[in-house]
Amino acid sequence: MEVSEANDESFGIEVILPEKVGTAAPCCPHGPTLLFEKVSKGGEKGRRFYACSACRDRKDCNFFQWEEEKVSEARLLAREEENQSKRPLFTQQENCSRFRKFASLPLDEKKFCQDCQILLLPGEHEAHSSHRSTAVSAAQLRRPSVLLRPLDNKKSNAQYLFTDRSSHFLLDTLAGLGYRKVLCVGTPRLQELIKLRNLEQKHEPMKSLLLDIDFRYAQFYSQDEFCHYNMFNHHFFDGEASGAVLQAFLSECDGQKVVMVADPPFGGLVKPLANSFSLISQTWKKLQSSACSNTDMPMMWIFPYFFEPRILECLPSCTMLDYQVDYDNHPLYKHGKTGRKQSPVRVFTNIPARDIVLPKDEGYRFCLVCQRFVVSLNKHCAKCNVCPSKDGREWKHCSTCDKCVKPSWRHCQRCGRCALPDHPCGHGEGQEGCFNCSSLEHKRKACPLKDTHRISHQSNAKSGGKHASHRIQLKPKAKRKSGAARRAKKLAALSK
Ligand code: SAH
Ligand code: ZN
Ligand code: ZN
Ligand code: ZN
Ligand code: ZN
Repeated sequence: MEVSEANDESFGIEVILPEKVGTAAPCCPHGPTLLFEKVSKGGEKGRRFYACSACRDRKDCNFFQWEEEKVSEARLLAREEENQSKRPLFTQQENCSRFRKFASLPLDEKKFCQDCQILLLPGEHEAHSSHRSTAVSAAQLRRPSVLLRPLDNKKSNAQYLFTDRSSHFLLDTLAGLGYRKVLCVGTPRLQELIKLRNLEQKHEPMKSLLLDIDFRYAQFYSQDEFCHYNMFNHHFFDGEASGAVLQAFLSECDGQKVVMVADPPFGGLVKPLANSFSLISQTWKKLQSSACSNTDMPMMWIFPYFFEPRILECLPSCTMLDYQVDYDNHPLYKHGKTGRKQSPVRVFTNIPARDIVLPKDEGYRFCLVCQRFVVSLNKHCAKCNVCPSKDGREWKHCSTCDKCVKPSWRHCQRCGRCALPDHPCGHGEGQEGCFNCSSLEHKRKACPLKDTHRISHQSNAKSGGKHASHRIQLKPKAKRKSGAARRAKKLAALSK
């Protein structure tokens, strides 16, 4: 049976996390699969099945297995073969020795194959002679995130790289707070910046370890700088060896404070991500002296603001900062010439918000009451006693609802709440909202995220509501128009 059959207009899908790590979930090329459960509108439990943790599009990974399904030997073998065939060409050790050789080549022999996305050693030029290739300068070799073509796989693995503004902000902030080791989870550009800064020798050196599913990066880093990792199932593709690298990195025996910075794909499921980050934190905890055994590992999780309720539900010790993270190659989130577009991407962190100084010249100020930096338009509301804005615009207080709401909302007498002027009116209290994203603004059919799959946010829903979260979709309903513009439009619709 196909995943498509497990998907119906009226169903949502929930992830069931394993009680213990290592319970026998079958593996796809992306490591152990996740267990999903169909949930019907009434909340009854449906049939459970395993599907890929990392890919939201069946085209990228079509693994499917019912929980109780018996799989034949032949199919298991075929599966194993398929998984093997998707392994990287080189081991991390081979990559390291290749890199050393490459770095010592004369400039005119340093070539990068753009079609295969690999550094070529002299003996390999011939085989790639019909491919497009470029020369690689020493400076370019230090900037793999510029050399490598960003993956633009629409669903599973689009890579959005930080602007200089954002990456410098993150790094300056962490350095300022005294962190000397940065665990970069899905943040290759941050890792790169750390290494570049060390070369300048103007700052105290920092260490970094990149955990990423994109093994093209393995070509540029040593074994203790890169691990091939899946952050949706906390899977290290190189097993024990990588586990040991992570442990060594997380131990602070040298007195160097560790922090984690993660920037997962935005369509990713919050629950499994939070679970992986918690497992990393637990590993860190075990390595600490008993004195601080009940603090969590400091972390920053970069994600859009409308996931706030969902993230805080999973990681209650985090708060959302007002700082807007932006990207070089994202159609929606990069700043144009006429000033920065509002980015919906924020930092969720368990580092005390008052310690994270947001730049005044970019329009942030300190709120004495809230004890945190906020964007200037985020005015403190005396009635709510918070700076209420999530999206960077000035929100206004509705005395009937007794809370602050988006500026575009009006109080609707009929619904008894604030909503967009053109909301589906008359559904009143107790309405369930969109079945896909739980928003009260629209129904499933009109959901802007309808076919972005596996959406687990709950934009305007009351948090903790029974139907408020865990909703995902595995298959798009209609043919996709494809392209970043469509996704951008959908995300934009969310912030109205
Ligand atoms: N802003 C970051 C890049 C974020 S894009 C920067 O500039 O450094 C998301 C990153 O997560 C990419 O590097 C991508 O390869 C990685 N990624 C995507 N899916 C992943 C997964 N399942 N496990 C680990 N890393 C993943
Ligand atoms: Zn897979
Ligand atoms: Zn090639
Ligand atoms: Zn208010
Ligand atoms: Zn109102």
